[in-house]
Amino acid sequence: MKPKYKFCPHCGRPLTNDDAHGLKLQYCSPCKMHFFNNPAPGVAVLAVKDGRILLVKRKLDPMKGTWALPGGFMDQGETIVRAGLRELREETGLKAKKGVFFDITTLESTAFGTVLVIAIKAAGITGKLKAGDDALDAGYFDIKKLPFIGFIGHKKFIKKLVKQGLK
Ligand SMILES: [Zn+2]
Repeated sequence: MKPKYKFCPHCGRPLTNDDAHGLKLQYCSPCKMHFFNNPAPGVAVLAVKDGRILLVKRKLDPMKGTWALPGGFMDQGETIVRAGLRELREETGLKAKKGVFFDITTLESTAFGTVLVIAIKAAGITGKLKAGDDALDAGYFDIKKLPFIGFIGHKKFIKKLVKQGLK
């Protein structure tokens, strides 16, 4: 479960608990606003080259030091594909012409609560592979010699991709 807010992020006054909309919500009475604490949407990018899959070594928690698909949270105003291609560029230096929807899952995180992860498959990849500022390393891996992958959701996406054939 994500830690709850203590103070209103708009006016800074303490929040109170309120049963509303059938939920136990936090409420700011001066702002007359309930806080829904919705899940956060994130994106994971599947990129394949010569039958190998692109992974990045995480520099930050959660799962710091483990390998994962490139990805991260959506920014305001982005589409999920734009978010995925931005994360791909930031973490690996690679550009992709397009991304198409692949699969979706949810996971529970102590820092962010419920995270909705949407996987996209990148196509038309160009550029020179180089780990970005928020990655320790990046590389294409043979599916039979994968390193430890921290996120269960990412493992599921990779398993499904392998089943479909790595193209
Ligand atoms: Zn307020």
